Amino acid sequence: MTREPIFDLATLRICVAAWRTAKLRVALVPTMGALHAGHMRLVEVAKSAADRVVVTIFVNPMQFAPGEDFAAYPRDLAADCARTAAAGADLVYAPSMATMYPAHYATTINVAGPAVAGLEDKYRPNHFAGVATVVAKLLGQIQPEIAFFGEKDFQQLRVVERMVEDLDLPVRIRAVPTVREADGLALSSRNAYLDADERRRAPRLYAALGEAVRRIGDGVPIEDVLRTAQDALSAADFTVDYVAARRAATLGAFASGEGEGRILAAARLGRTRLIDNVGFALPPALRDT
Ligand code: AMP
Repeated sequence: MTREPIFDLATLRICVAAWRTAKLRVALVPTMGALHAGHMRLVEVAKSAADRVVVTIFVNPMQFAPGEDFAAYPRDLAADCARTAAAGADLVYAPSMATMYPAHYATTINVAGPAVAGLEDKYRPNHFAGVATVVAKLLGQIQPEIAFFGEKDFQQLRVVERMVEDLDLPVRIRAVPTVREADGLALSSRNAYLDADERRRAPRLYAALGEAVRRIGDGVPIEDVLRTAQDALSAADFTVDYVAARRAATLGAFASGEGEGRILAAARLGRTRLIDNVGFALPPALRDT
């Protein structure tokens, strides 16, 4: 691919239309840039599933609340383009702000229901409206057959799936497991905010979730497990926003007796907010079905 990104919609459409005429399958990997090995995994998986891979890089102001890190969010378009080219992506689309949100722009997509309610949205009130809107726009602009999202942002994944199903959007959504550092910390562009001491403590988030999954497997009641995980994080000087168990498929409330669940957590270390999640299954003896 060329290492030059495309910034405008007209050029993008010419390029993608030529692929479609040639009957090539197009995959989309939406990102906010500051790309790391987690994003690259998405590109690799996309590459194996489609003929052409478009990586989008857009730091979407609509999904940041006032006071969040929109201005400070790490940006390095040249390095991102080199990385995506090396990983086999075919095109980087880095739309300008005017392309995405021209002056007359007036539409927001609001997803409701269990996929949205009670986790990130409590702390980032308009976040998922911003995510749903920008993803809908990117899907409309590129019209990929398939789009890839990381389980790292598990709630985002479920929100996007809900939107795509509800709006009958002609795209398949595929989830890619979280890529982690050797010590378990989930890769994130925001890890760059961690100082040395915080970086040393950060893997405790994943460790606490792993311990929680082990205890659920031992038959410990989920409420006890969640409380212990929260206490462990507080003891390690995290400020915990939530540690919650939800149904994996829908993010609806996890009722005792159900099979597949997900523990999702958000906690702050200094000025850095970390999120992570892990899957769990109730021991067979405790399941209804
Ligand atoms: P972001 O640039 O943070 O908006 O992320 C873009 C996409 O990469 C989203 O679908 C994320 O879930 C995914 N992603 C981010 N970090 C990871 C990771 N450590 N492992 C897998 N996917 C990731």
